[in-house]
Amino acid sequence: MTSCRFCGHPLKHTLVDLGLSPLANAYVRTDQADLPDRFYPLHTMVCEQCKLMQVLDYEKPEVIFSDYLYFSSFSDQWLKQCCHYAETMIERFGLSSESLVIEVASNDGYLLQFFKEKGIRVLGVEPSDKVAEVAISKGVPTDIAFFGRDTARRLRDQGIQADHMAANNVVAHVPDINDFVGGFQILLKADAVATFEFSHSMNLIVENQFDFIYHEHFSYLTLGFAQRLFAASGLRVFDVEKLPTHGGSLRLFVCHENARHAQTAAVDQVLEEEKAAGLDRMETYQGFTQRVEAIREQSMNYLQKAKAEGRKVGAYGAAAKGNTFLNYLQLTADHGLICCVADRNVHKQGRLMPGSRLPIVSPEELVAQLPDEVILLAWNMADEIMQQLRSLGYQGRFVQFLPSFLIH
Ligand SMILES: [Zn+2]
Repeated sequence: MTSCRFCGHPLKHTLVDLGLSPLANAYVRTDQADLPDRFYPLHTMVCEQCKLMQVLDYEKPEVIFSDYLYFSSFSDQWLKQCCHYAETMIERFGLSSESLVIEVASNDGYLLQFFKEKGIRVLGVEPSDKVAEVAISKGVPTDIAFFGRDTARRLRDQGIQADHMAANNVVAHVPDINDFVGGFQILLKADAVATFEFSHSMNLIVENQFDFIYHEHFSYLTLGFAQRLFAASGLRVFDVEKLPTHGGSLRLFVCHENARHAQTAAVDQVLEEEKAAGLDRMETYQGFTQRVEAIREQSMNYLQKAKAEGRKVGAYGAAAKGNTFLNYLQLTADHGLICCVADRNVHKQGRLMPGSRLPIVSPEELVAQLPDEVILLAWNMADEIMQQLRSLGYQGRFVQFLPSFLIH
């Protein structure tokens, strides 16, 4: 029997089994279109002991994250928030030109560039060499490595210690979550602060956001769980903010157990909300499968009706959540229910979505195909996408299936 990736307790309870799915970021090049996709079980379980929701892993991280094409700098809205983050942290924690800010999973330098602009020393840690090279070419020093205790010790032995650390959308994406968090304990100076952002899995449960589940997303975190996670590495959550990103995220402020930061009232408030949502009880997790199946049925009925009525349907958002949705519903190119998926990321355009094999096109190409409807697979960015397509002259409808069925 598989055991919990945090506490080691045997896993007995299924949250939802989404069947077989390829790795969500395994975009297919057209010259490889003859090769079959590799499918892996996408099975999520919940630990009765610590309540961590987790995807069972079937593949090594080196395979999952090779040829990884996620460039953070492709969303304007996101970049604005990053600039604001840098300004806020500099002010709140008194960072100066003497300080060193380390970001883990620093991607293409999208966040650290804003600290650098303010004259603060920065260091990124990023496992994907292709993405890291983009950061380095922008002048953001980047250590190419997976983060964990070993990397942290290597940096510390070079005399590197952080005055501030950031980890955005990464803690949920590491297989060995204890080793990852342990690295922060090693690198943080005595009163330094690390912030962690992740999608709040209370929303996954309450709003049936099953499309947040994919192989690269190993753990589904709540604040209650995060407190236990950090405490196990001698760290403490002292503040929390709610963010609208990724369908509702949390930003945790974490320090050493004995650091001077006092716990804010926001921590108790979010813990209360999680308790009210029943996240501390196993019953809450049962019934999730049935609710997800109902969404699948409603979405399929809608798309089949659209086809029967001769309406042309496109989609927007060639990201992991779109892949989970398309593969769970088995919306392959052969079925002809959806013509293509648009995305702004030029590295994805011209490729095929894994599993479903729908072609990825530019937003301009999608509009040129004159669809009657566009499915918002990236529903968390609905406003930005709708604005973008309208400005390109799209006049049809927008439809989203999650977190609830909506026609714009
Ligand atoms: Zn556990």
